[in-house]
Amino acid sequence: MTVFLDGLNCANCAAKIHSDIQKLPYVSNSDLNLVTKKLTLKTSKSHDKTLKEIKKIVKKYEPDVIVSLHQSEEAEKPKIKNWIHLLIGGILLVLSFFTAPNSYMFTAVSILSYLITGYKVLVKTVKNILNRQFLDENLLMTVASIGAIAIGDYREAIAVMLFYSIGELLQDSAVNKSRASIKSLMDIRPDTATIIDEKGNSNPVDAKNVKLGDIILIKPQERIPLDCIITDGNSTVDVSSITGESLPRTVNKGDTLISGSINISGVLYGKVTAEFSDSTATKILELMESSISKKSKSEGFITKFAKIYTPIVVALAFLMAVIPAIIFKGENFSLWLTQALTFLVISCPCALVISVPLSFFSGIGICSKRGILIKGSNYLELLANVKNVVFDKTGTLTYGKFSIKSVVPFSKFTEDELIKTASAVERLSSHPISKAFNNFEDSENEYTVTDFKELSGLGVTGIVNGHKISAGNSSLLEKNGVKDLNIPKETGTVIHISKDTEYMGYIIVADTPKTESCAVINELKKNSINTVMLSGDNLETAKLIAEEIGIDNVKAELMPKDKVENLEKLISDTKNGATVFVGDGMNDAPSLALADIGVAMGGVGTDAAIESADVVIMSDDLSKIPEVIKLAKFTRKIMTQCIIMALTIKIIIMILSALGFANMWAAVFADVGVSLLAVLNTFRKPK
Ligand code: AMP
Repeated sequence: MTVFLDGLNCANCAAKIHSDIQKLPYVSNSDLNLVTKKLTLKTSKSHDKTLKEIKKIVKKYEPDVIVSLHQSEEAEKPKIKNWIHLLIGGILLVLSFFTAPNSYMFTAVSILSYLITGYKVLVKTVKNILNRQFLDENLLMTVASIGAIAIGDYREAIAVMLFYSIGELLQDSAVNKSRASIKSLMDIRPDTATIIDEKGNSNPVDAKNVKLGDIILIKPQERIPLDCIITDGNSTVDVSSITGESLPRTVNKGDTLISGSINISGVLYGKVTAEFSDSTATKILELMESSISKKSKSEGFITKFAKIYTPIVVALAFLMAVIPAIIFKGENFSLWLTQALTFLVISCPCALVISVPLSFFSGIGICSKRGILIKGSNYLELLANVKNVVFDKTGTLTYGKFSIKSVVPFSKFTEDELIKTASAVERLSSHPISKAFNNFEDSENEYTVTDFKELSGLGVTGIVNGHKISAGNSSLLEKNGVKDLNIPKETGTVIHISKDTEYMGYIIVADTPKTESCAVINELKKNSINTVMLSGDNLETAKLIAEEIGIDNVKAELMPKDKVENLEKLISDTKNGATVFVGDGMNDAPSLALADIGVAMGGVGTDAAIESADVVIMSDDLSKIPEVIKLAKFTRKIMTQCIIMALTIKIIIMILSALGFANMWAAVFADVGVSLLAVLNTFRKPK
């Protein structure tokens, strides 16, 4: 069950609300995300009853928060009413300067100003006390300001309330702004589509109601609502919000359109290939949403830290008030009390609790804008400290587009026979190698294949016109009892072919490295990252490609299970750093799952990749690997800055307050001011 808590911005209150919800006996697996304001949980009671209980709990701490099963925009609107209150309070404060001190007029204006600026805080304090939830900022502000009034310092009381409230409002709007900007990144899926009916009329409909095979119309400047194949028209499309590619793509009849991209120039008609719930845009959105619930270690640490830290600080404050009172036998007690309260206000861990998840959330948002989907803050955190990057060769470092280089028949077989036999079985294969045979169509239906098998890491077999044909590497043929293979001197991937146990000859196919491979490996090496290539191909070919692109370590002739073993060993040998595996997601799911971070390339259109990887690169562009590492480091930098800044300012003001040099104003700055600065820092974007 998912519940939205719109208008919830206070980290402290969120923690309390979540802790109470966790205590409900029928609730399990709950998670409250302050950034999305989403509460997810499992409940054994009905949704209605659970919602009622949640509403009760939220009302206790944050009466203004709107609790519902749907997101409401209402609570996110700028709180103009609150600003007007503060403005009136501020004007009255200024007016008080024009009245004679100690006159009735002065007292009346000051108290009115105090009540207008602070009534929200005062009301919350009373509610908290009624709920026996004493310790929070509201109580601190109330006690501090009433203390100031008691010693006749009205202006300090008003100022405390005024600055605290302004700080809170600014922080609220900063958090909302960050949330809105991240949400706008996610706004890649239009809800309506224009469908063309049998009579050729166009009707706008809810995108959810469009079925497979329906024809939709996409006008220029419209976002493509569903994945489809162009049936008519040509245009250029901007796919940047999906793949991060900056150049528009030219598309014609027969090309695939990805939902979420934008049609730039021409009118397009497309036949829908995936319904709304299966479309690329929906998958990306779901992935982004779920990524937020996977928390990084830093987030977990901060939550734990806040839990231990708060009681320690409260105990310290208590001692600060009580010890001097005992030593000085109650003299100046109000001074010690004020000092202890000041200390408490400063120490609120809000800035830390809010800025850490916000840094990660904004990092994930930036990555997604560049066509890199990250499935959780934990992966972004690991990416900032990468030791090894392991690449699969075919389709990752190379284009995976094979072409035939030579055909060498053996004994009685002819070239034509060899190539036709091989292409008969290869046509049924899904391995990139098989694409080399695309041009050899069997137009006369001479070769019928039955009992086709694809043997991962070896090749393919099938019964062709009553004979068992094998096409693959030498291991495959040896396994099938074929002897005396010809071993070519030429480099390239060798496909040996046999008919029953008779050797027919070999075909050499070759693939080319991606243009960016060399630069990418270079950049990783510059960052002291170890690069490794794992390949099922023969050693000579693998070595040749590795040399060409400058990769350090090559392991070739590996079966899928050997790839996993090699990766396992590398991970266990690597201390203090993450191991990344980069593959195309086709048949390397075990390696993707095993690596600390599994990165799948070319995510558009391949469900398998999106499911098994931790990071999905939507395009085929390898340079996204160093880019995502850079972005992860940037995110870590922002987060560290927030933590260091918050702790330093707080510790300095805490020491000053313990020594009696910091008043309540400084305390309010150390609390809300620092939170605000931390939140603003998470807005920064990398160059
Ligand atoms: P992979 O691990 O997928 O790179 O495959 C390892 C090796 O198995 C390749 O280098 C080929 O020698 C062989 N192989 C796999 N699939 C095929 C196929 N469809 N046709 C020929 N050889 C294949």
